[in-house]
Amino acid sequence: MWFTKTSKIGENVYLVDVKMHGKLGSTSVFVVKGEKAAILDTGSNSTVKNLVERVLDLGIKRDDIAYIMPSHCHFDHAGGAAYLEGEFVKARVLVSDKDAKRLTTPAIIEKLVEGGRQTFGDPTIEMKPINNFDVVKEGDLVNLGNGVEIEILDTVGHSKDHISFYESKSRFMFVGDAVGIHMPQTKTITPTAFPPEFDLETFVATIKKIESYQPEIIGFAHFGAKTAREGYLSLKDTVKVTYKWNNEIIKAYKEEQDLEKVAEFIVQTYGKGLDEFAPNHARDLARSLAQGFLTKYTKPD
Ligand SMILES: [Zn+2]
Repeated sequence: MWFTKTSKIGENVYLVDVKMHGKLGSTSVFVVKGEKAAILDTGSNSTVKNLVERVLDLGIKRDDIAYIMPSHCHFDHAGGAAYLEGEFVKARVLVSDKDAKRLTTPAIIEKLVEGGRQTFGDPTIEMKPINNFDVVKEGDLVNLGNGVEIEILDTVGHSKDHISFYESKSRFMFVGDAVGIHMPQTKTITPTAFPPEFDLETFVATIKKIESYQPEIIGFAHFGAKTAREGYLSLKDTVKVTYKWNNEIIKAYKEEQDLEKVAEFIVQTYGKGLDEFAPNHARDLARSLAQGFLTKYTKPD
């Protein structure tokens, strides 16, 4: 089963399609509800309105939202956080120690915005510093009442600040960008190898760590949620695909010594999944992903 619509998907878990860049089926946010509720990831500044409307549609009240929990600092995961503070006034933003710095330092925020605008060609991307936040770390339990708790996991590899969230009652794991882009429409897996922080070995170790929890449902930022029962989780496939990309990209780069040619190869080979994720930006994404895999080859030493 692959959940792709804004709906209740588990005993205490809700999926919200935030309609990123005006497109359904690209970016999801999740809500976990006990007595109080937590929003996992935030979407971007432009999707805050959609997100709030969908959360209210699902029957969750504004005052129920106690926590806003971005998985990492990228604009499509944390960009909405500061704006959501104004919508859910009782909520605290929970962040890793790295993001406590990143999401409050204007110079870093500027770089995050610039990176997002460049990769997605979207000049409307904005971010502002978060205000009402607390730091969480690996192993912390966020208590939502009614026996619902969210465990914090360190899940670096895609980025150095990435955390994931495990809710044991539904055995639901929200993985953000930690295990790739899984597109339901094209059934493709794209490694989230964006520079400058992607690290192949850490990325793979994180996927194995997530697998060790044996989640029943995995929620992806991109996109939707998959269930284990039908063998849908695809974690092993993600590891395979990631090594395949790595080998192919390094081989192509060694042959061509030209990033643009490597990007073209990725578009030719994997364009379908990239197009589905960000229409008209396959080439930009491909270039960026190639750079992620090639960090140690292209970096001047
Ligand atoms: Zn990311």
